Formats: sequence, C-alpha cells, structure tokens
Amino acid sequence: MTQRPIYLDCNATTPVDPRVVDAMVPFFTEHFGNPASVTHAYGWAAEAAVKQARSTLAAAIQATPEEIVFTSGATEANNLALKGVAEAYFAKGRHLITVQTEHSAILDPCRYLESLGFEVTYLPVQADGLINLAALENAFREDTVLVSVMAANNEIGVLQPLSEIGAHCRRRNVLFHTDAAQALGKIPLDVAAMQIDLMSMTAHKVYGPKGIGALYVRRRQPRVKLAPQLHGGGHERGMRSGTLYPPQIVGFAKAVELALAELPQEAPRQIALRNRLWEQLQPLPDLYLNGHATQRLPGNLNISVAGVDGQALLLGLRSTVALSSGSACSSTTLAPSHVLTALGRSEELAYASLRFGLGRFTTEAEIDRVAEAAIATIQSLRRAASGVKG
Ligand SMILES: *Cc1c(COP(=O)(O)O)cnc(C)c1O
Repeated sequence: MTQRPIYLDCNATTPVDPRVVDAMVPFFTEHFGNPASVTHAYGWAAEAAVKQARSTLAAAIQATPEEIVFTSGATEANNLALKGVAEAYFAKGRHLITVQTEHSAILDPCRYLESLGFEVTYLPVQADGLINLAALENAFREDTVLVSVMAANNEIGVLQPLSEIGAHCRRRNVLFHTDAAQALGKIPLDVAAMQIDLMSMTAHKVYGPKGIGALYVRRRQPRVKLAPQLHGGGHERGMRSGTLYPPQIVGFAKAVELALAELPQEAPRQIALRNRLWEQLQPLPDLYLNGHATQRLPGNLNISVAGVDGQALLLGLRSTVALSSGSACSSTTLAPSHVLTALGRSEELAYASLRFGLGRFTTEAEIDRVAEAAIATIQSLRRAASGVKG
C-alpha cells in the first residue's frame, strides 16, 4: 500500500476536526428541522442551535449576533460585501479601493463592478507584501465608498495592518471591508478595536466544514446598508435569503471556538515548525522567502527557488508532500501567481515557488521529511539543469 503524501496545503483547505464532526452529526438526522419553522419543536431545536452558533461566532470577533449573516463561504461573503455596498451607496459614490494581491473572490467582483461603471483603485504592495498606508491615504477620493483589504494573504500569509487601515477609513467616513478567510481562528480579530465594518469568514480554512461562512455587517456607528444579492424568503434580516443549514452552522461555530481556545498554544507551535522548515532548507543557496518574515500567518511559508522549473519542482515533490505553487485557484492555469509578481518577483521565480501550509495536525517528523525531500529534489533539478547547459 502506498502512503498518502504529507498534507501541507492548509491555506487551500483543512480537514474537519473530529470534534467538529461530533458537534454536527445530531443536526443531520435527529434535529433536522428548518430553523424558520416557528410552529413546532423540530424548528425550535434547529433555531436554538443556530442562535447559539451565531452568538459564539459573534463573540469570537467582538460583534453582536445580529451582525452575523450566514453565507455559503467567503466567496459569497465577499460578493455580498462588495456588490451589496456598491449598490446600496450608488448615490454617494462609485469608487472602491482594494489591493493587487487580493484573492480572486475580491478581484473578480471588482472587475464585474468596473464593467457596470464603478471605478476601482488596485493598490500595489511593497516587496514584503504589505500595503503602504500613505498610498492608501492618497487613493481616497470624494466618491470613495469602500476599502477592501484582506486580513491575511492566502498565498504568502502576510498580515495587513487592519487597525491602521480601519482608522484611516473611519477618519474618511469610508466603509472598511476585510476578507478574513485565512485569518479567522489564526490571529485575534476584533471588529470593534480594528474598526472593521464588514468582514468575510469561512469555516473550511479553520477545520470546519466546506460550504459555510459568514459576513459580519456592522449595525451601529455606522450602520452599514447592504443591497441583498440573493432574494427570497427574507432570511438573515433580508440580507441573504435561503434556508439556513444547521449542521454546517453548528460545525462552523464549533471550529472557531476550538481554534480560539487553542490559539495561545497553537500559534507558537506552528511558528516553530515553520521556522524549523525554513532553517532546514538554508543549506540550499538561492532560496527566496516570499512575504514579510514575521508579519505573517503562523503556518505559512512561501519560497521561490532559483534555477529550477516550477512544474518539475511540484512533480518531484508530489509523492512526498501535498502542497501548491501559488494559490490553489491559479495552480490550474499557467499564469504566474499575481501575488508573487506584485511583490516584484520575476516570472521565473514566481513560477518556481512553493507554498507550505502547515496546520493543526502537522508534526515535527513530517516537517523533517518534507525538508529532506525538498532539498533532494531541488539539488537534483539544479544538477540536471546545469548538466543540460554545459
Ligand atoms: C479560501 C479563500 C476564499 C474563498 O473562500 P470559500 O469559502 O472557499 O468561498 C476567499 N478569500 C480568501 C483569502 C481565501 O483564502
């Protein structure tokens, strides 16, 4: 029997924690009611579970339960935030600000809005992947209605300065949205202290199930207006119609609760593993770390390897370790990562990149095996390349 490769692709998705599965199971067959059914006990049980989960999630980010709008994930939450705000504030202005290194679930809705006549400024990033706050300040216009900057990057793990961005936006009276799909449960998030007005979340990056997420929508100071993008039964206070999905919602809340409870031990553990991996690779010359060295997600290491072909590198490693080059979404296309080119990496270095996504179940022994395999593969590819040349 062949062994499955070691899983180091936690920025793409994570396994569901068995404790989360246990919490979900009763809501498939036993408490299967529709939370919107107000006339009987089946509905009440489901509604009570959803209410509890909503409170847990709200408390996790310093919001109130009424500010949580359940969605199918972060893609939908991002679409709802961007299109919903653009539509609701159409009379106030038609300009949005975002960043070149955002996920496609931000960039594509922005391009769609541009096709409707909105204007979008795409801020560049510095070589370390962080935005420049002076550049943000310069991008504001009279008609700017929304700034959208991701909390943590899905490729290079870089953490943007949310509190500073929030303060700039509040001073300008401009709404601040953040895509926190990668950050939730990995770093502390506080929508009050960080002055965040809208925040996208998803369960499957934090050991919860796929197909569930939420948008935080501020209700006070300021009250955010949002045009719904899914019309129907008026669920989620009219902002997102569709029957709620109690097993997923319960699992989402359980996943976030566990992640926050374990964060004080888990973050330093993953940082130590990630640093161990980086240090073990050091005997190899011409490796480049992509993104800020410390201002990044605990479990993320993204490197470019000079002098090797990117495709060959992934191929050489894939029986040992499951990881990706660039984002999962762009690794099916042949374009180099838009994030790495935004850092100023050459096309060649952007192609020859590896994203190691460590997680809750990653062990020291696994890291050592991956480092060994990476060194062997890179050395042999480089030997072959220099042999061909001469
Ligand atoms: C994974 C991810 C998304 C998409 O989330 P889904 O819940 O899979 O739709 C959006 N933004 C970022 C930064 C992500 O990492």
